[in-house]
Amino acid sequence: MTRPIAAWLTDMDGVLVHEGHAIPGAPEFIAALRDAGRPFLVLTNNSIFTPRDLRARLATSGIELPEENIWTSALATAQFLHDQIPGGSAYAIGEAGLTTALHEAGYTLTESDPDYVVLGETRTYSFEQITKAIRLIKGGSRFIATNPDTTGPSLEGPLPATGAVAALIQSATGRAPYYVGKPNPILFRSALNRIGAHSEDTAMVGDRMDTDVVGGIEAGLTTFLVMTGSTRPQDVEKYPFRPSHVKDSIADLVALV
Ligand SMILES: [Mg+2]
Repeated sequence: MTRPIAAWLTDMDGVLVHEGHAIPGAPEFIAALRDAGRPFLVLTNNSIFTPRDLRARLATSGIELPEENIWTSALATAQFLHDQIPGGSAYAIGEAGLTTALHEAGYTLTESDPDYVVLGETRTYSFEQITKAIRLIKGGSRFIATNPDTTGPSLEGPLPATGAVAALIQSATGRAPYYVGKPNPILFRSALNRIGAHSEDTAMVGDRMDTDVVGGIEAGLTTFLVMTGSTRPQDVEKYPFRPSHVKDSIADLVALV
C-alpha cells in the first residue's frame, strides 16, 4: 500500500548535491515541492554551517530554496537542549552552525560549570578545547554531540568528524555522548515538528541505509533510498531492514511531489 505523501524530508549530500554540484533532478525536485506548496525540509548531519550558509551553497549549485527549509543536526541539537533545560548553558566545540543555533535557542556559551558540553563538527579541533571538554564532563557537565559520523568526505580523502572526536573524549572520561543527528529518529521528529507534518504521510529521501533509512523507519516515515550516494544496489539486501522504495535518483521522485 502506498500512502499519499503530504510532506517531504530529504537528505542533502548524495541526494541533492555531490561535491558541490547539484545531482540531476535535484533543482527540479525542490522547485516542484515549492510550486506544490508542500511542507519540506532538507536535512543534514553537518553542523558546521548555518542554514543561511547552506542556502547560499545550494544556490551556487543551482538549487534554490529559503533557509527556513534547511534543518541541521546543530539546529536539532539546540532544539533538544532547549526542550530539556530551557535557557541553559553550554561549552560548545564547533563552528558558527552550532554556536549560532545555541544562541538562538536561548543558550549561554560558557566555560564555567555549563549544563552541557556540546561537540559539533569543526576543522580546527584543538587539544586545548578537547582538554577543557574532558575536564567539564568529568566535573559533571552532560555530554552531547551533534552527529555520530566518524569521517566526512573531502577531495583529498576522509576527514575525522564529530564521532571520532567524541570517541576520544569518551575514552578519556568514560562518558558516552548523546547523539542528536541521524540515525537518531529525534532528528526526523524535530524536523516534522518544525514543519507541522505527521509521520504517517511524510516521506524521507536518503542515500544511506544506516542513517537515512533506518532513522526514517524508526520515525515512522515512508522511506526512499536513492543510488546517487554511498549505497550500491547490492548493499541493500545486507541490512535487516529495507526502505519503502528504491529509486535510481532524485530525478525519479519529481513526479511524485
Ligand atoms: Mg547523504
